[in-house]
Amino acid sequence: VREAELALFYCRRRGLGDNWAAYNHTLDSESQDRLRLTRELRLALDNDEFELHFQPKVSLANGAIIGCEALLRWHHPERGLQPPASFIPVAEKSQLIRPIGRWVLNEACRYLSVWRDAGLGIVNVSLNVSMVQFTESNFSRTVAEALAAHDVPPQSLTLEITESVFDQESEQLREEIIRLHELGVNLSLDDFGTGYSSLRYLQQYPFDEIKIDQSFTRKLLDDAYSECIVNAILDIAKALGAEAVAEGVENEQMRSGLMALGCRNGQGYYYSVPLEVEDFRWLLDKRR
Ligand code: C2E
Ligand code: CA
Ligand code: CA
Ligand code: CA
Repeated sequence: VREAELALFYCRRRGLGDNWAAYNHTLDSESQDRLRLTRELRLALDNDEFELHFQPKVSLANGAIIGCEALLRWHHPERGLQPPASFIPVAEKSQLIRPIGRWVLNEACRYLSVWRDAGLGIVNVSLNVSMVQFTESNFSRTVAEALAAHDVPPQSLTLEITESVFDQESEQLREEIIRLHELGVNLSLDDFGTGYSSLRYLQQYPFDEIKIDQSFTRKLLDDAYSECIVNAILDIAKALGAEAVAEGVENEQMRSGLMALGCRNGQGYYYSVPLEVEDFRWLLDKRR
C-alpha cells in the first residue's frame, strides 16, 4: 500500500495520471495471477499433477551413476509441463510448499524403495528443501517418518539446502539441521558460492556435500578467476571432509577441466537432462 501511495504521489506530481493507472493495473493483474496460481496449486496436489524427474549424479572419471537429484515438475492441465521456477516462489509465499514438499519427500523415498526392491542398486536420492519447510515444526520428524514408511535407510537420502534457508537463521532452524544430521541423512549446501555467507554456514553446520554452482562450472574454461574459485571450493570441501559436486557440466571440456582440478563428481546435460522416471529407470537397468 505504501508503495502504491508513493507511486500515486509521484505520478500526480509529475502530472502522469495515466501512468499511475497503468501501474495500478499491473499490480492488480500480478496479484490476481498469484491468486489464480495459488488456487491451481492447491488443486494440483489433490489431482496428482506433480511429478518428479531425476537427473543422474555421476563420477566424472567414468560416468558411473552415484545418485540422482529429484526435480519437481507440474503437469498443468492447460499450460502443460511447468518448471519449478514458474511455481515454487508462489508455493513458498502461500506455504503450499509444505504439503508439496512432503509429497516430494514421500515420493523420493517411495522410488528409493521401489528401485531397491527391483535390484537396481541406486544408492542415493537428493531432493531440494525450501526454507519454508524448515519453519514447519518438526521437519526432521517428517523426514524420519517418510524414511520409516518406505523402510529406507537415512544415508540414502540427501537434503539439498540453499543459502536462502539461512536468511531467517534461528535456534529452531539450527536444532532442526542438527537433528537431521543425527538422524543420518546427508546434508548438501546447494548453489555454493552464490550467497554472502557461505563460509560461515559451512563452519557452523555439518554439511556432507557442497554443490558448486553452475555459474562457476560455466566460466571455468573462460577465465582464471573462476578456476581459482573452483579450486578454493574444492580445497574447502576437502578440508571439511565434504564431497564436492559440480553442477551444470555440459561438455567434455568442462568435465576434463573439473577433473584436472580434482573434482570427482558432477551433474549436467553432458551426462543427462533430468529424466522421467521410466527413462531414469531404464538408465539404471542398462548399467546392471
Ligand atoms: P537446482 O537445485 O540448482 O537444480 C539444478 C537445475 O539446473 C535444474 O533446473 C536442472 O534441470 C538444471 N540443470 C541440470 N543440469 C544442467 C546443465 O548442464 N545446464 C543447465 N543450464 N542447467 C542444468 P530445474 O529442474 O528447472 O530446477 C530449478 C530449481 O528449482 C532448482 O535448482 C531448485 O532450486 C528448485 N527445485 C526443483 N525441484 C524442487 C523441489 O522439489 N522443491 C523445492 N523447494 N525446490 C525445487
Ligand atoms: Ca539442487
Ligand atoms: Ca544447485
Ligand atoms: Ca541453482
